[in-house]
Parts: sequence; structure tokens; C-alpha cells
Amino acid sequence: MSRIVGIDLGTTNSLVAYVDEKTGLPRVIPDQEGRVLLPSVVSFTTEGVVVGEAAKRLLVRRPATTVYSVKRLMGRGYEDVKEELCYLPFKVAPCDGIVKIQIGDREVTPPEVSAIVLRSLKERAEAHFREPIEKAVITVPAYFNDSQRQATKDAGRIAGLDVVRIVNEPTAASLAYGLHRLKEGVIAVYDLGGGTFDISILRVKDGVFEVLATNGNTHLGGDDFDRAIVVWLLDDILSEHGVYLGRDTEAMQELRLAAEAAKVRLSAEDRTTLTIPFEEFTYRRAITRAELEGLIEKLVDATLGPCRMAIADAGVAPSDIDEVVLVGGSTRVPLLRRRVQELFAKTPHSQLNPDEVVALGAAVQAHILAGGITSMLLLDVTPLSLGIETLGGIVSVLIPRNTTIPTSAREMFTTSVDGQTIVDLHVVQGERELAKDCRSLARFELSGIDPMPAGMPKIEVTFLIDANGILQAQAKELRTGKATAIEVKPTYGLSETEVERMVEESFAYAEADVEARLLIETRNEADTVITHVERALRQGGELVPVEEREAIREALEELRRARAGDDRGRIRDTTAALNRATEHLADVMMDAALKAALGSKRAAEIMESD
Ligand code: AMP
Repeated sequence: MSRIVGIDLGTTNSLVAYVDEKTGLPRVIPDQEGRVLLPSVVSFTTEGVVVGEAAKRLLVRRPATTVYSVKRLMGRGYEDVKEELCYLPFKVAPCDGIVKIQIGDREVTPPEVSAIVLRSLKERAEAHFREPIEKAVITVPAYFNDSQRQATKDAGRIAGLDVVRIVNEPTAASLAYGLHRLKEGVIAVYDLGGGTFDISILRVKDGVFEVLATNGNTHLGGDDFDRAIVVWLLDDILSEHGVYLGRDTEAMQELRLAAEAAKVRLSAEDRTTLTIPFEEFTYRRAITRAELEGLIEKLVDATLGPCRMAIADAGVAPSDIDEVVLVGGSTRVPLLRRRVQELFAKTPHSQLNPDEVVALGAAVQAHILAGGITSMLLLDVTPLSLGIETLGGIVSVLIPRNTTIPTSAREMFTTSVDGQTIVDLHVVQGERELAKDCRSLARFELSGIDPMPAGMPKIEVTFLIDANGILQAQAKELRTGKATAIEVKPTYGLSETEVERMVEESFAYAEADVEARLLIETRNEADTVITHVERALRQGGELVPVEEREAIREALEELRRARAGDDRGRIRDTTAALNRATEHLADVMMDAALKAALGSKRAAEIMESD
């Protein structure tokens, strides 16, 4: 049994953990100095690449070549991250649908940077076990889309790790608390770190986890608490000492560090004193927990709205939530714990170190996969619907949003033009009715179909989403057996706000979309009928009296005129009228065809008996 480690690849810090065979408990692996958190920071220096604590120290001195928060860029395109870039001091440029980070005259991709962090954790684990480590479970936020998950897998591969499973962070946190042992229950995982906030609602049933809903804010966390304290300190220094330090980068750095340290102390104490020696004066200030709470209350409350939304999206009431799990360093703040407790009317789980809980859960999942715990499965859901563009640009959804994965779905399609030998398949993701309003994931082609009349080929499209949320699309023409497949590795991802926007728009545009869809469908139906009637007139027109033929031609013209407009009711009625006008012709043709078939059968029998 080869060892699998669990890795929390975080925005700010990363950790690696394993399950101790003797105790059966998960444990984080420290580095040589006994530190468990590896800052997710990579600095490219002339002497080589530096990672972790050493790189973090270079953040201030070498901002252009020291990369942090790279998780925000994973699997994303330039359009997705444009707004992030003002927060990042290094240069990010678009490149073939993804982004690259410019370090001097060198370019690196986000997965390459993450791979440097992962390799460092791999080496840490190897030093601990004194054996090579080649397999890992890596966690990602529940809202990560498939390209972000794919980019995370790529990072693992670059680091020499086989990523055997990508697990959602809230699922991992629940595992760390052993909540998979619940017979049934609803879990809220509240995760507030340094820079991001995530709330996830999960359901667990007989050891099976399902993400019901997620929400959050990608720019809200402990850093904002620090900033609120710094603003307050700047004001205080101005009135006490008559200097404004807001434009002095070095002083601001000092203030930020002192503010964070005071905030951390105030989680355990009621009162603390800040002392900052500046060149001209030493600034000293006492701050109470109540004062801190006054400064950060609005920020803490800003997390409650997304919680309520996630609860509503999950289709549960706050009282249905059985367990609350706290994740992330900022959940040590007492005010926050009180607010979370009030919201859910439940004491949250906080026994485990909130910085370690995701990595510990990843280790539990790794242990399950390695065969240490059997009879357990982990399930997640698709964040957005997946479908195929069909005639007229309508989306036919194969896998609806929030479907539990792994999953597969199958649907039959056909051609719209006679003799069509190639079908273009367009895979889209989103909640809108028309493909142009959804996100294009991939295009692929099914060719070599035998020429047949429109509507005859039977094209079976299968979507398969694996446990990591990666989509495989396949198309097969059943009459000829011609098949083609594609693994959807989108070149760029959706920003969380884009996902949110797409979901919101789907509600806002729902009515207009349905109307547009119905019109297109009605036109498609009209086109099919027109094609069939034209063919019938060519092949069997002579079988009916001339007046009947004329009546059919008239009905045909009427439908063509209706089809050119956008009055759906009229198109529908004239289609029905044309169908009625051809009923007799269809019967006559069917009879003729039957007679011909019987005739040839008789001929075949005669030949056989010969
Ligand atoms: P994470 O991203 O989960 O590592 O969380 C980091 C954030 O947690 C930073 O903003 C820290 O300042 C904050 N943090 C860590 N420990 C404490 C504490 N005891 N009280 C308040 N905030 C803390």
C-alpha cells in the first residue's frame, strides 16, 4: 500500500498531513524547525527559487519577483482576474487563454508556482517518512470550477505528485471532525482566513458527503481586520503626535504587523498594548477587545449575509443545520464565534486548530483512498449546468447545476440537414437557455457519419464527470458506430463572481430566455416539417390529385411566411395546418411503400426457393 498524503494548498499558507497508523488520527507534518504552516509564497531570486517563510520575508524587499496568493490565479484567464491584479505587486499577463506571471524576462504559469509550494511539502513529507512520497489528495474551495481543479491537478503533476483526488475544503474540514460518522445531517462549514471567506452547506448521509450550496467573498478576511485597526492607529498617531504615516510604506508595514499581533492577542485577552518604536518617537497604545470589536464588527457582520444566502440556496432552514465547523485562523476571533453561534443557534466545532483542519481532513480522505478506511465515498456537486448547443443556439442541458458528482448523463441528438456527415459539438456551461449567453467550454467534431436524410443519424452524446469534477464528453453515431471524445480542460476558468453572475442572470433572464427558446424551437419544428413536405411532394406528389397538391403548396407557402416572422403562435398554427394538409399524402405514400416492400419480399422468397 503506497502512502498518500493530504495537502491543503492554501491562498496564504499550505500544509501537509497524514494519518498516524498507530492512533488512527490525522497529524500535520512540521518542517525541520517545527513549523507546520508553509507560507504559499515563492520568490525568484538570482540565486534560485525560495519558498515559504524565507520567500515571505522577501515580500517587502522584492515585490516584483515574489509571488503570493497565486491560488487566486489558478486555472483562470485574464478577463477573470483583471480586477484581482490591483492587489498584486507582480506582473500578470494574458497568454493563450490563461495568465502568466512575468518575473524579469521569465514567465511562469500559476500551476508552476503552486508546484514549487507542493514540491516543498512533498520534500517535507519525504524527510518525515524517509521514503519517497508520490501520491497526494489536494483540497480546493468548493466553488472551484473544472479548469481551476484541473490547474491544481497540473500543479501536482509538475511537482511529481500523482493527485489521486481533489477534495473540497469544507468536505475535508467535516472529515477532520469525524462527521462522516453521522448517520445523517446537515453541516455548515464557515471558513474565514486571511483574505477569503467561504461558507458551504453540506449534507452527509451514511458516509456520503454532498455540497448543497456555497457562498462567500473572495476579498474578505483577517487582513481586512488588520487594515481597520491600522486606519484607526493612523488617526490616533495623527492626533497624538501630529504626523500622518499613511504614505510611509515602511511605517505602514510596521503598523500592519503590530495591528495583526494585537488582534491575535485580543482573541485570548481583554486588553493589550501596542508599542511601535519609530525614529522620531515611540508610539504606545492600549487597546481593549471591545474597541477591536467596534472596529471589525461591520466586517464580521458582512459574512452573515452570504451565510443566509447559502442556507437558502441549500433549501434548508437555519434550524435544520446540525453541525457547524469553523475553519481558518480568523475564526479564533471571539466576536465572530458569538455571531456564528447566534446565526446557527449552535456551538460550532472548534476543538481542532482552525489552520490545520482542512489538511487533517485531506489526510483522512487520503487514508480512505489508500484503503485504511473502507466503505466510504465522498461526493461533491457541479457548480454550473453543463450542456450541448443544439439547433438555433439552444442549450440542451445534460447535467444540471448542483448534480452530485461523479455522474454521467446521455442524450440523443440528430442532424438537421440531409446528407450531413459532420456534426459540430459545442460544450457549454451556465444557466441560460441560449448558448451565446453561457460559457463555451469546448468544441469538438464528430465526422465520418454516413450521408443520411436529416433526422436519421442517432447521435448519442455522453457527459461523464469524474470524482475530481473533470468533464469528459463523448459523441457516437449509433448507426455507423463512429465515435469521438474530448476531455474538457478549459483553457481558462470562471471567476467566482462570474459564476454568481451567471446564476443570478439565469433568474433575471429566465422569462425572456424561455420565450426566445420557444420561438427557436417552434422555428426548428417548422423547418423540419417544411423539409419533409418538400421531399414528400418530390417523391410522391403524383400519387394525389392536383388540387390536393396545390393545397399543400399553399399551406407550405403560408408556413414559410409565418416562419420569417417571430409570431410563435402563428408559426405553430401554420405548422399544424401544413401537417393536416399532408395527412392524406402521407397515408398514400406509406401504402405505396408497404406495397413495394411486400413486392420485393415476395421476389426474395421466390429467389430463395429457386
Ligand atoms: P489562514 O488564512 O486560515 O491561515 O488565516 C490567517 C488569518 O488568521 C490571519 O489574518 C491571521 O491574522 C488570523 N489569525 C490567526 N490567529 C488568530 C487569532 N488567534 N485571533 C485572530 N486572528 C487570528
